[in-house]
Amino acid sequence: METKEILKKSGWIFMIIASVLIILFTIGFIISQYVQIKNENKNSTTQSYIPQKNIQKTYSEPQWGEMPIYYQFENLNSCGKIIPEKILRSFEKIKIQTNNTVYFEENINKLGINITCYQENSNEETIDEAAYFTNKYRQITNAEINFYDTNNSDYNPLCKNSSYIEVHQILHALGFAHSTDSKSIMNPNKKCNETIDTGIIDKLIITYKQ
Ligand SMILES: [Zn+2]
Repeated sequence: METKEILKKSGWIFMIIASVLIILFTIGFIISQYVQIKNENKNSTTQSYIPQKNIQKTYSEPQWGEMPIYYQFENLNSCGKIIPEKILRSFEKIKIQTNNTVYFEENINKLGINITCYQENSNEETIDEAAYFTNKYRQITNAEINFYDTNNSDYNPLCKNSSYIEVHQILHALGFAHSTDSKSIMNPNKKCNETIDTGIIDKLIITYKQ
């Protein structure tokens, strides 16, 4: 008789615990669904509120995002006398020939063209070199130009009185590659002819005209 009552009692307790667990599980499930829906709404709201102007345009070809293009000399003391003068002359030349469309400004605090001079060169084939770096929108973020002043006092005897090499390297920093056209300043044959191709000038004006 007592055993029967205990079994009956424990049966009730089991039923109550099971019911409470089912209720708690159901409430937990409902809350988790609600939070999920709320998060989904939140995400879709955020996406539709991205201002249009923050969506950056992807360029078809590598180019600088805005003017002026900043530059800085990494180690002016190692550049000798000739290199800085020729580089400044080359910047000015590009500015004038593009009717002030492409212009440069010295600024050591901004990303731009980094100019480094070396008085020794391990690779004798290379007189100078340039490279540019882009972000995912093909916008050029910065560039490096290295000049090798191998003879120290007699910088680049090949083109002593011409800024062919400096203009050529700056145009690399603007995204221009080598050309097989023997008359082009982007032909790497070092003829010391500093005339910039009209095709390059036109392209610069079209690309950077506001
Ligand atoms: Zn080159």
